[in-house]
Amino acid sequence: MASSFDVIVIGAGPGGYVAAIRCAQLGLNTACIDRQTQQRGDQKGRPSLGGTCLNVGCIPSKALLDSSEQYHNLIHQFPAHGISVDNAAMDVAKMQARKEQIVSGLTGGIAQLFKANKVTSVHGHGRVMQDNTVDVLDDSGQVIQTLSAREIILAPGSVPIELPDMPFDHEVIVDSTGALNFDQVPKRLGIIGAGVIGLELGSVWNRLGSEVVVLEALDDFLMIADQHIARVAKRQFAQQGLDIRLGAMVKKADLGAGGLRMSYTQKGKRNTIEVDRIVVAVGRRPATDGLLSPDCGVAADDRGFIEVDDQCKTGAPHIWAVGDAVRGPMLAHKSSEEGVAVAERIAGGTGHVDFNCVPWVIYTSPEIAWVGQTEQALQQQGIEIKTGSFPFAATGRARAMEQPIGLVKMIADAQTDRLLGVHMIGAHVSELIGECVLAMAYQSSSEDIARTIHAHPTLSEATHEAALAVDKRAIHKVN
Ligand code: FAD
Ligand code: AMP
Repeated sequence: MASSFDVIVIGAGPGGYVAAIRCAQLGLNTACIDRQTQQRGDQKGRPSLGGTCLNVGCIPSKALLDSSEQYHNLIHQFPAHGISVDNAAMDVAKMQARKEQIVSGLTGGIAQLFKANKVTSVHGHGRVMQDNTVDVLDDSGQVIQTLSAREIILAPGSVPIELPDMPFDHEVIVDSTGALNFDQVPKRLGIIGAGVIGLELGSVWNRLGSEVVVLEALDDFLMIADQHIARVAKRQFAQQGLDIRLGAMVKKADLGAGGLRMSYTQKGKRNTIEVDRIVVAVGRRPATDGLLSPDCGVAADDRGFIEVDDQCKTGAPHIWAVGDAVRGPMLAHKSSEEGVAVAERIAGGTGHVDFNCVPWVIYTSPEIAWVGQTEQALQQQGIEIKTGSFPFAATGRARAMEQPIGLVKMIADAQTDRLLGVHMIGAHVSELIGECVLAMAYQSSSEDIARTIHAHPTLSEATHEAALAVDKRAIHKVN
């Protein structure tokens, strides 16, 4: 194999593999180094491209969310349609096998894309050395190859944060990967952290029958979301049986006769609860351990994030970094956009990422999605705004689908009417948000959406009506 390339990418997650493919499309001789192996199933231990997202993140979580939602709907939604079944049962092994098949198919697909685009795929741990060289190490830490390149893109991604007094044993105290791989439904499941990952994984196992308690250190629920939406979400999750306790700081867990005893403090009081398994979902940290040799010239901050400028340039010439390991939201699509932008910059073009227009989605039921700023953030900045909202219950399609929960809320600048944020909770809002991302990317006003024809009957009519409501002229509600 050649040892000299135009570009070496370290990491084959959505940041790295997308950057590598785009580099190759632009005519650059590209290698991509990744150490990830398949986690489960008959492919276990084999190299597996796609990073966290395809192997142990976005895709397997969505597979389980979908399976568990189908099961939940069978019992709780279908009867309203006149469909009933006796003895509904979930075969967890089959559900997991389906998930594994999806993961293998997609990760194998990246390998095929690499082949088709002539990206050289290298399995191992990459370490950036001096003079634009990269050592590739095997599992035992031995250097197996040294490669060099004109440009290097770092896309090492992130790993789950471990609580100091509650180390993962990967059996009863697990991270998100462990919670994606349970082979039976835990009777009592404790989740630490009511962030996106905690809520999604809590929903999966709650729908399948676990008693789920979610302990969250902060006093407010889902602070990253618009608080209007967060309140609706909290009510819905409580109705589904998710026991979310706020202001609950978890310290440790001990294995006792009745299971795992989790100790936490809430309003200055010490509490304990007993559970059978614990999922620690308190956030992720950059996977930069062993990535940077001391003399490579790339700086990382005290939390391990690689320091970059707006263009994803590190302090070292010709070394770039993208994705979860740099500032900004830890989202797959943000990583990919940065990967494409860096590839285009390397090839002499002008890469572009609009950080004001990164959509967020939480794939619970109802789904939560937003783009732009929240009402509370805008208020804090003293920006004058006008808002319009519209409930799905007032749309014919949501009623016909038996999915009346939720709303669309639109926020526009009070003077210019420019869209500043759109926030949604309801069925399929992960898909509905796309229109609003485009609108914001084009710097649209709420009036632009109000004047756009939306098909009837669709859920998107709620977006249209929310835009009309900004100007107090929604048709199907009292303004
Ligand atoms: P990663 O996907 O983490 O990929 C980095 C790759 O680099 C990995 O394969 C790693 O093994 C490899 N690597 C690291 N260091 C080295 C090295 N030195 N040498 C060789 N290889 C190395 N995001 C969304 O947008 N939507 C979702 O629905 C979503 N759901 C999620 C659900 C879960 C349970 C989790 C855990 C995450 C989820 N995310 C989601 C987040 C998403 O997975 C990440 O934002 C995304 O994967 C980041 O992409 P990346 O390319 O920066 O890094
Ligand atoms: P995210 O960063 O979105 O994945 O969310 C992680 C959540 O975990 C945050 O809301 C944190 O407040 C919460 N968290 C972090 N540490 C603890 C802890 N020890 N006990 C309870 N919640 C925690």
